Amino acid sequence: MLPLVALVGRPNVGKSTLFNALTRTRDALVHDEPGVTRDRNYGVCRLDESRPFVLVDTGGIAGENTHLESVGLAGPTARQARSAAEEADLVLFVVDGREGASALDDEILRWLRKSSRPIFLVVNKTDGIDARAAMAEFSRYGFDRMFAVSSAHRHGIDDLLAGILGNL
Ligand code: GDP
Ligand code: MG
Repeated sequence: MLPLVALVGRPNVGKSTLFNALTRTRDALVHDEPGVTRDRNYGVCRLDESRPFVLVDTGGIAGENTHLESVGLAGPTARQARSAAEEADLVLFVVDGREGASALDDEILRWLRKSSRPIFLVVNKTDGIDARAAMAEFSRYGFDRMFAVSSAHRHGIDDLLAGILGNL
């Protein structure tokens, strides 16, 4: 069985765009409207042909103003995201480098850390901004591995891929 990597994060941070960058498809539905991707979406990353892995693009866990507790992680979308993260060998916690850390990011991360899955922090949308400053916004999360990427422009994807393959 191929290893499984899950993309988790609040709506609109660019999970589907990153999914497309890693799988080189347009399968994932990318949309400006938060929460548009509702179902789990599986694809295979073959950027390194010798080491394919399955990638799952979870839909937004909750709406921008809805905290995980208030949905009790019980809604269908939340449940999908939760089980994807629980089954994964590695979780990519995707955040928006332009917006910085939000309360919902904090909450998703708190929940992710209840499981023992390894987690990478992926700071997306770092095109046209200071990537270091964007990453510093998230330093309080205390991650060992942080990756600055621009999924839309495919920046940082090779480093992220190397990091993923080094941990599978
Ligand atoms: P999701 O809800 O987390 O799946 O986010 P999407 O992949 O649907 O992207 C949400 C919005 O952010 C879309 O308008 C994307 O075009 C935009 N976006 C995604 N990645 C990037 C990026 O690397 N840079 C910039 N500037 N915009 C991005
Ligand atoms: Mg999406």
